[in-house]
Amino acid sequence: MNLSEYRSKELIAQFGVPIPQGRFAQTAAEAEARARELSAKKYVVKAQIAAGGRGLAGGIKFAATPSQVSDEAGRLIGTKLVTEQTGKDGETIAGVYVEEAVDIADQAYASFVLDPKTGAPTLLASAKGGVAFEELARMDEGAVQSLELSADTANLSKFLEKLGLSKVDALASLLKKAKTAFLENDLLLLEINPLALTKSGDWLAVDAKITLDGNALFRHPALEGLSDGETMTANERAAHENEINFVKLDGNIGVVVNGAGLGLATNDMIIDAGGRPANFMDIRTTATSFQIAKGVELLLEDPQVKAILLNVHGGGMTVCDTVAEGVAFAYSRSDRKLPLVARLAGQNEDWARKILKDRMLPVESHPSISQAIAAVVAKSSGRAV
Ligand code: GDP
Ligand code: MN
Repeated sequence: MNLSEYRSKELIAQFGVPIPQGRFAQTAAEAEARARELSAKKYVVKAQIAAGGRGLAGGIKFAATPSQVSDEAGRLIGTKLVTEQTGKDGETIAGVYVEEAVDIADQAYASFVLDPKTGAPTLLASAKGGVAFEELARMDEGAVQSLELSADTANLSKFLEKLGLSKVDALASLLKKAKTAFLENDLLLLEINPLALTKSGDWLAVDAKITLDGNALFRHPALEGLSDGETMTANERAAHENEINFVKLDGNIGVVVNGAGLGLATNDMIIDAGGRPANFMDIRTTATSFQIAKGVELLLEDPQVKAILLNVHGGGMTVCDTVAEGVAFAYSRSDRKLPLVARLAGQNEDWARKILKDRMLPVESHPSISQAIAAVVAKSSGRAV
């Protein structure tokens, strides 16, 4: 779950990381009023979406006066911004961050991540920050160096010096504060790009991007509020409220599965069989029929979805008939009776199949996963089975 720039900056500022002064606004008029509060010499109007790459996609605009801020904000708000990081449909710009523009002398890159091998918090840094960083890093591996962050950060200034950065003590002090923000909030990623050296010689976080760890959110109730609404699509939010793990994908086969591992394996098998999943969905073991119905409703409402696959392993806390009740309920409330292919195995599977048949769902049941997948792939592509 990514936070937008201004939320990310608000969070790191609480830990003492210096940021330019700025204000969030949701309308052009509000943006102008916020700009007047800042009384800066020059402004930057920055589209707020939960993804980077905005500079290269036209989402970062400079303005000389508050009324120009209003014009730029008016052009951005409500439109869709497609960047390298958004996916092809882009993201709707719900608001802008109005900032005082700073005079940048030098741009560096810094991010905090967890080393995938050791699990240790690690700093990645480069003297070549800015919008072209990703491209540069791809071409020149040496441009980015990593430093494992043990409790002792005495070596940090040296590391920064070796990268060719200046004012390293001030920079090390900023990065130590950022490290605390990263660790105390259980973040998966804290990226500062550019980390800017101003003409007056101060290091500032001019952009920041945070990825929250969904599994650690229960430890940070304040962060949970921040991520809601911005980082999920409306459908993902509806699923989340019903305790269903849901991620929208771009295929046409709706997939309903219990268990995240089975969900991933099912999607892999669909792709191997030549089909394209429209989503990842894990109905958790504790989901009620009503919650499951909400999940299926999202698929029935999605015009891209042409057929639905139900792959359920009954056992433990999930019983097949609870799932079947939920699916049947969703179908009874929808006008789109999409073909349903079911593979139900385990506890109460016979009963579940009977529920789907008795409620007159357009269902076809198969005993094995591969048979069910072959059938749903055929239906989704309009081929006869
Ligand atoms: P991103 O493209 O989504 O990563 O958005 P950024 O917030 O990083 O902005 C893109 C680029 O705009 C930065 O890399 C800077 O070069 C530039 N930029 C952003 N804010 C300022 C500013 O206040 N002053 C100057 N001179 N450039 C800025
Ligand atoms: Mn950036």
